[in-house]
Amino acid sequence: MADVQGIVQADSSIKVRSGPRITDASSGTSLPVGTTVNITGFALDPKGDEFRHRYRITLDGNPRWVTAKYINVAPADALLIPYIFQFPNDLVRELREGLGITALSASTTEADDIQAIARFMPNFYLRGNNWDAPQIAKLRGWLEQLYSYGVILHSPGPGGWSLSEIESAFTAIATIAQGMTGFLHFAYGLDDPVLAFRLLYAPLIITRVNRDNVNTMSDSVWFAKNVQGYEVVFGNRVFFNGKSPTRRYPQLPFTTVELIAHEVSHVINYRYQLTDNSGRDVPPDDFYMANINNVAYTLPNGSVVRLVGNAGFGFVARSSDDPAEIVTDAIANAELGRMTFASSVPAQSDAGNARQMQLTDLIKRVMQWQVKHYVDLNDIQAKIDRIRLRNPQLADMTPALNAVAVGDASLEKQMAMLKATPPLL
Ligand SMILES: [Zn+2]
Repeated sequence: MADVQGIVQADSSIKVRSGPRITDASSGTSLPVGTTVNITGFALDPKGDEFRHRYRITLDGNPRWVTAKYINVAPADALLIPYIFQFPNDLVRELREGLGITALSASTTEADDIQAIARFMPNFYLRGNNWDAPQIAKLRGWLEQLYSYGVILHSPGPGGWSLSEIESAFTAIATIAQGMTGFLHFAYGLDDPVLAFRLLYAPLIITRVNRDNVNTMSDSVWFAKNVQGYEVVFGNRVFFNGKSPTRRYPQLPFTTVELIAHEVSHVINYRYQLTDNSGRDVPPDDFYMANINNVAYTLPNGSVVRLVGNAGFGFVARSSDDPAEIVTDAIANAELGRMTFASSVPAQSDAGNARQMQLTDLIKRVMQWQVKHYVDLNDIQAKIDRIRLRNPQLADMTPALNAVAVGDASLEKQMAMLKATPPLL
């Protein structure tokens, strides 16, 4: 395989080391900005600084190491760079000193999993001791599936994600994708969960921070937040067993997966509009308040359902009754299949059915609006750059943009296909 080329992109010359660790000796040379390098592999230094991801390069015929953060590589090429095992004959040590995972045991059958997981590890830390082979295999599967949706896990420092927390995030995303498939079916007649999810939610970063309060802007305590439609941030109190109630609506408690789905669902009201029946483009929360919140709805069987407030909802996870919060709870209930259509109480079943139909119509309109208005990934990048000016704490979105940038299944090709598909009425 041909080496991958990268270009030094930093504020000043970068340090070159003899090995991938921050404790490895400097080679005595440094690389000026703009230098082209041949990259032959990558590794991680779990004990390194915030930029743990390292590239092995060839310099004057010798293998040397640099911090990957300072090397610009084309997204498609980055996937070709192989993981470099530091301890190929001792995989327990490889997990510990290569990825920062304390494992009970590891055999050669895990080598493949280690390489696959290493690709995602520059973005986050893992928590928990004594990982075993089945857990490592599960982790790999979840990370790879999240990547296919255009979702990257992130944590800014040690603490990071436990396996069960990753499972909760994965379950939320996979269930949302399933629900969005149903809406895509009504919007374009297509049944494809990956496409359905990516159409409205990719690129997305899911961040785990090791704090109770994730609000960095004011004194009020937030367990979770959505950073203007591109990053969701979860603190310690998002993860619990069983159900937890909101203070306002204690009779409709939510689970961890439902809270994650609620926070992810804020993406829709942040990023998109929809076209109403009079041809005007309006934000989803305005459409919801005017046409859905408290109205009578006629079911296909002719019965009229009087809908008010949380009628039809299986859970409420919102922090206030702001319209953006109400529409987000409605979207989360609809895409998770948590509207009360399956209730044995006829009034509840009718309300659940009516809400599900209302939300199917709302999401269909959002999907068709997005397909019509989608430009390209550069346009998404420009939107992210504008958000960063106001919100500098927004995570680096590059890994998530890269996840949807390449291959036959790139977002560009998927959106071109949708633009060529007639929207259903
Ligand atoms: Zn919310």
